[in-house]
Amino acid sequence: MTRFDERLHAGAWQSLEISRELFRGASEYQSILVFENPLLGRVLVLDDVVQTTEADEFIYHEMLAHLPILGHTEVSEVLIIGGGDGGMLEEVLKHPLARVTVVELDACVVEICREHLPSICGAAFDDPRNDLIIGDGAAYVADTDRRFDLIIVDSPDPMGPAKILFGQSFYANCRRALRDGGLLVTQNGVPFFQSNEVRGSARAFANLFRNWGFYVAPIPAYYGGHMAFGWASNGVDLALGLDDFGRKRASSLDTRYYNSDVHEAAFALPTYIRDLIDS
Ligand code: SAM
Repeated sequence: MTRFDERLHAGAWQSLEISRELFRGASEYQSILVFENPLLGRVLVLDDVVQTTEADEFIYHEMLAHLPILGHTEVSEVLIIGGGDGGMLEEVLKHPLARVTVVELDACVVEICREHLPSICGAAFDDPRNDLIIGDGAAYVADTDRRFDLIIVDSPDPMGPAKILFGQSFYANCRRALRDGGLLVTQNGVPFFQSNEVRGSARAFANLFRNWGFYVAPIPAYYGGHMAFGWASNGVDLALGLDDFGRKRASSLDTRYYNSDVHEAAFALPTYIRDLIDS
């Protein structure tokens, strides 16, 4: 039996059976592997780290798309940084909004995911509201004169070209690219194994935004317990939860993880994560 060994964390690794290999190659930015696993379905791996899987992608994409959109209420222009697998785009497009701009560094990821992971991206990249830009997300938010109600940072872990997406100057440029009252949300790793991600983002958010915090959800392929999602805004306070209209909209969404109860509960942080944020 062939297998894929992920060694993202020092000393605690995961191994996935490869029942069928669909793509193995490299772009100018990273190595790219797509394979089938009996439990997780098709799996996307970039630079030897699991990015998303057919079986559990719904949890991550629903929590980083629907929770902020319903928590903000006035979302019309969305920017997704990263997100080349199309899963975030597909969830965001379930909402009545004007445009979703995706700034993805690597065109090969989009191409390979459209071909080998259609169950994740669906027809999202063909939606007329989608504006796909191939480029570095950090440079984009530094230079753009466009303004957004919501910025979703759907990045890999802070390594290689994604490292810059976890720094204070990037978050400061996201703040610049937000409309008044706009909201930034981020993929912030698994605090149990990646404590520096939450700690670093918390420090940067505290320096840049009036309201900020984290919420959590468990995603099997990102092993080690809760995944943390960062949020920050000089307008909305996401932790206030949903109003009646938001609860109504949540109940009308086609989702398999997110719902209005999960929305409220996601902000209940375990003490060890609270302590990390305050450290
Ligand atoms: N759900 C995954 C996670 O939580 O790790 C992220 C998946 S998505 C495939 C991550 C995407 O970010 C990749 O396609 C990668 O090419 C892209 N990316 C990495 N660095 C980037 C940058 N500086 N600007 C824009 N996209 C970037």
